[in-house]
Amino acid sequence: MLNIAIDGYMGSGKTSISKKLAEALHIKLLDTGAIFRGIACAWLDLGNPEISEENIHTFMQKIHVAIKFIDNHQHVFVNHKDYTSQLRTEQVSQLASKLSAFSETRTQYEQIARKFVKENDCIVEGRDIGSSLLPNATVKLFLDATPETRAKRRWLQLQEKGEQTTLEEVLKDLQERDYRDSHREIAPLKIMPDSYYIDSTNLTEEQAFSACLQIVLQHIKQEQ
Ligand code: C5P
Repeated sequence: MLNIAIDGYMGSGKTSISKKLAEALHIKLLDTGAIFRGIACAWLDLGNPEISEENIHTFMQKIHVAIKFIDNHQHVFVNHKDYTSQLRTEQVSQLASKLSAFSETRTQYEQIARKFVKENDCIVEGRDIGSSLLPNATVKLFLDATPETRAKRRWLQLQEKGEQTTLEEVLKDLQERDYRDSHREIAPLKIMPDSYYIDSTNLTEEQAFSACLQIVLQHIKQEQ
């Protein structure tokens, strides 16, 4: 099986680069963050209860999370409700990051992701892919850029969507989320010694994509 692990911080370009790589290699892409985002949306639907072990336990007993590819686009369902169009708000980003630190949400995510990688040649993007989900991935990439660059990219995306927020607010949220994701006890975001580290601060998206593609192709060639 061809399994490519792509990890990185928010705004590092991992989502767009993963999409392009999947297209170039004609393989599927699993966006694991979307699973936590789906769980966060269902949590909000429940009235956004206080985050505690107990509430998460009760909640996770009640929900069934599933992913489905419709027209080659990944959809996330919780209890048969399609949350795909609601995944990308700032509120959902922060909540997904908070809920993802708990073992019960991670167990649910792992079940879905492990089944998927067993059945598909694929690119998997997330936070713990090279370190935990796919320790023996064909190739591991870690994408990064300075917090200021990543915040600016995210802020521009939000501006395009018409969301009113300042660059300072986006930078603050991003730093909070980076800290939480890399300091949690279970499966924290970290750079593995066998990962290729790509800093896209001074690269265009196209340049970063080319660099990633070259590395991946080189590894695929070596495997053959
Ligand atoms: O990648 P994305 O921003 O969609 O991920 C949302 C949140 O889900 C992250 O901030 C992180 O806390 C969590 N996540 C995770 N493990 C993954 C993917 C995402 O903990 N493999």
